[in-house]
Amino acid sequence: AAKEGGRSTFRIYRPEMRLEAERRHEMKLALHHALEEGQFELYYQPIYRIDGPDLAGFEALIRWNHPEQGLVAPLDFIPVAEETGLIVPIGEWALNEACRTAARWPAHLRIAVNLSVSQFRDAGLLDTVRRAIESNGLAPERLEIEITESVFLTDVGQSLPLLRAMKALGLRIAIDDFGTGYSSLSYLRSFAFDKIKLDQSFVSGIETDAGSLAIIRAVVGIGSGFNATTLAEGVETEEQLQALRREGFAEVQGYLLGRPRPVGDTEAMIAALTDPQSAPFRLRATT
Ligand code: C2E
Ligand code: MG
Ligand code: MG
Ligand code: MG
Repeated sequence: AAKEGGRSTFRIYRPEMRLEAERRHEMKLALHHALEEGQFELYYQPIYRIDGPDLAGFEALIRWNHPEQGLVAPLDFIPVAEETGLIVPIGEWALNEACRTAARWPAHLRIAVNLSVSQFRDAGLLDTVRRAIESNGLAPERLEIEITESVFLTDVGQSLPLLRAMKALGLRIAIDDFGTGYSSLSYLRSFAFDKIKLDQSFVSGIETDAGSLAIIRAVVGIGSGFNATTLAEGVETEEQLQALRREGFAEVQGYLLGRPRPVGDTEAMIAALTDPQSAPFRLRATT
């Protein structure tokens, strides 16, 4: 917009633009350093079958342990990683780490890993994914790739064959943040998704907003029509859980059921749940 305004506007905005470029450059160096120094960490958030009480698996969510800033959330560095291309090595690290970790869990537990659309522009993505499962001995059907609808907005010619090739490897593919993208629904006909993850913004409106409920019902219909598992993200209250169960969602994920936790806590939880001595686990509000 600054450039369109002509020369003088360009000059006025220039210091800010340079600051922004400098900030991005510094962040790029810091991210590169973080990768070399092992400052990234995966947190794991549990995913439950709504008719449970069983655990279906976990979603891996990246964190940056910054030496001065502490734990940095993905929204504060993933965009820069995408712009600078560093998402490719960071994403490769995350895929490998998630597969390596999940491979030592009970075999019925799945691991979901987020991929950025920009990773689909990397010709090496398929090899990266294949290596991650094979070198860690993870059964391919235990790995679920999460992508957003935006993958269908750009470079469909490249993304679609990649998605199909991943499916051919035996992986499961989920649409993340469903309902918030700008794409039309017609892409659903071009690829057989295994899972639809309804965005949390609809879940939070389930009790108060008739529009959210209408969308939730439509998503359940789309899921059953396309034979895709429906998952609701961001479940925070018992009431939301009850409503989602009533509407027929298959899986749930959210702070009510468990926050993303470091690997140590996650594995302690898995051990407790799979210990025959422990009391049978119950998903809350099962009635
Ligand atoms: P996402 O994949 O949609 O992940 C869900 C986000 O919602 C996570 O935020 C999670 O911590 C948060 N969340 C889960 N349950 C609740 C809830 O009940 N209430 C609320 N308010 N939030 C909840 P997080 O970990 O900050 O991740 C944000 C986004 O960053 C992710 O959204 C994903 O798009 C991206 N991301 C995370 N890890 C990776 C990664 O390894 N690679 C790539 N490319 N992107 C990643
Ligand atoms: Mg996700
Ligand atoms: Mg999501
Ligand atoms: Mg999201």
